[in-house]
Amino acid sequence: MFKDYQSKPVVRKAHEVSADDLIGKVIGEDSTSELVLDGDKSGIKFKHYEPVNTGDFIVYLNDDDIYHCTRAVFLERNVVPACKGIDLGDGNYSGCNGTGGDCPTCGQ
Ligand SMILES: [Zn+2]
Repeated sequence: MFKDYQSKPVVRKAHEVSADDLIGKVIGEDSTSELVLDGDKSGIKFKHYEPVNTGDFIVYLNDDDIYHCTRAVFLERNVVPACKGIDLGDGNYSGCNGTGGDCPTCGQ
């Protein structure tokens, strides 16, 4: 019969998609796009089956398993610190109230 098993706590490695990120379709590979981060020459390929929006997450399991997760689903499964808004440098942030849909960091 079915028994209940508690899952182990996991730490996920993920990148929060910002409005500045460059994401492009990988030609010839199904459901695959490429994320180019600041200063990186080569992109990081990842799988996705829905459009990737600002505030979504790219989850890294290993080099062969990197995939998109919508913000809503990611927030259900993970503890995410409140958005601080735009990084203004010198440790300062613009702040974010999570409404209005115009935050370039979280998309909320
Ligand atoms: Zn925000």
